[in-house]
Amino acid sequence: MYVFNNIEQYHRQLKEGKVTCTDMVQEYLTQIEKNKHLNAFVEVYTNEALQKAAELDANRNSGAPLKKLHGVVIAIKDVICYEGHKVSASSAILKDFTSLYTATALQFLLDEDAIIIGNCNCDEFAMGSTNENSVYGKVLNAMDEQKVPGGSSGGSAVAVQANMCMVSLGSDTGGSVRQPADFCGLIGIKPSYGQISRYGLLAYASSFDQIGLFGKALDDVALVLSLISKNDPMDSTMEASPSSNLFPIKEADRKFKYCYFSQALNHPSLDKEIQQKITGLIEQLRAEGHTVNEIDFDLLDYIVPAYYVLTTAEASSNLSRYDGIRFGHQSSIEPKDLSAFYFNNRTEGFGLEVKRRIMLGTFVLSTGYYDAYYSKAQKIRTLLVNKMKAIFAEYDAILMPTSPETAFNIGQNDKDPIAMYLADIYTVLANLAGVAAISLPLFSHSNNMPFGLQVMTNKSEELTLLQISQQLLLKHKSADVPFLS
Ligand code: GLN
Repeated sequence: MYVFNNIEQYHRQLKEGKVTCTDMVQEYLTQIEKNKHLNAFVEVYTNEALQKAAELDANRNSGAPLKKLHGVVIAIKDVICYEGHKVSASSAILKDFTSLYTATALQFLLDEDAIIIGNCNCDEFAMGSTNENSVYGKVLNAMDEQKVPGGSSGGSAVAVQANMCMVSLGSDTGGSVRQPADFCGLIGIKPSYGQISRYGLLAYASSFDQIGLFGKALDDVALVLSLISKNDPMDSTMEASPSSNLFPIKEADRKFKYCYFSQALNHPSLDKEIQQKITGLIEQLRAEGHTVNEIDFDLLDYIVPAYYVLTTAEASSNLSRYDGIRFGHQSSIEPKDLSAFYFNNRTEGFGLEVKRRIMLGTFVLSTGYYDAYYSKAQKIRTLLVNKMKAIFAEYDAILMPTSPETAFNIGQNDKDPIAMYLADIYTVLANLAGVAAISLPLFSHSNNMPFGLQVMTNKSEELTLLQISQQLLLKHKSADVPFLS
């Protein structure tokens, strides 16, 4: 049986008749069944995927040229709308809600003959870092089932990690693609803000949200990214011309100018072994002739508070539509008035973490507190954007850990939401500043879990990000990074 390696090789095998799309879909369905306990999928589109595969196999036999994602098996996060399919943001409030239209990014994949195999579990409304906050229950990390896969796109990560699809879509508002990629040993990319249409992506915090991708092969990530990086009149926050020519990745045989933040690499929360391995890599890069400078970033301690003030404010507004009238669950309790009606619907529909964030967001926007919290956080965001502009005027990329530690144990941070928020220290900056970032699975920890290196490039510098990633993966991926085959 052909074992999937990357899309290009798969297409060659298809053309040579060594494998069919039906074989692949069947193989993935078997893996999904075998790994059911990992809880990565909300729904599996078994019949539909098999039918599409059969259609593609028949077309291919008639000699028609292959579209770019012909037979590529993809899973999507349960926050991406797909007409006629359920989408719930893994929340009781949207349970059994059916999408009325298809997200633009997903439509671009369908147009290229991708096969969508199902939608994946996530933290409710993409709020979380462990995939433990889901109405469908937690997702397990396939490398160690006592550990979380990360979040919020944990299901999408595990779907790729445990070979249940070829690539997957997630969403990244503050790290929800990069951090699960880090915990699961995958490549996870968050493109710059405005690179990919958000039309049809259920909103958490609109000025932060971006669709991102998981894969095991950089070329696959680059190919899919290039196909979904297209302008969409339905999203007015898109860049006029998103980065293009991302695939094939034009090899950059040059030395890069990197920097890293002294405060980030010396942060007390950073695991010592992660710190040592990244420091070791920095030394190797210098020895290879790249510039790697340590720079001062005195705003580091402000980024997590700014992120949680601004994203919860946006969430409180975005989630107000789930009121049981326009959208969402209706309680069966007889309400005494309209307020009670909303109250019952939302009390039953939302989980604990989502309620916490709606309340926090409502608080920071309320009269009397707006200036103290919301306006102040916006000012910090402006400072961060300016600081990042200045850095990127001088450097090609910033190097950072993706997460202060490897995959957490299940339940480790249950009781302490603040501790959980603080673990987002390395990822939220890219969303606050709207720049591009990737987590590359370069390292293995002595606790047998993988971890990544995060690389950030300026807004619209996806090509540089991919070129750097290509170099790093080629030269610096430690041979013992665990991969499930
Ligand atoms: N962990 C972050 C949070 O809980 C990231 C969420 C995300 O990127 N969707 O907000």
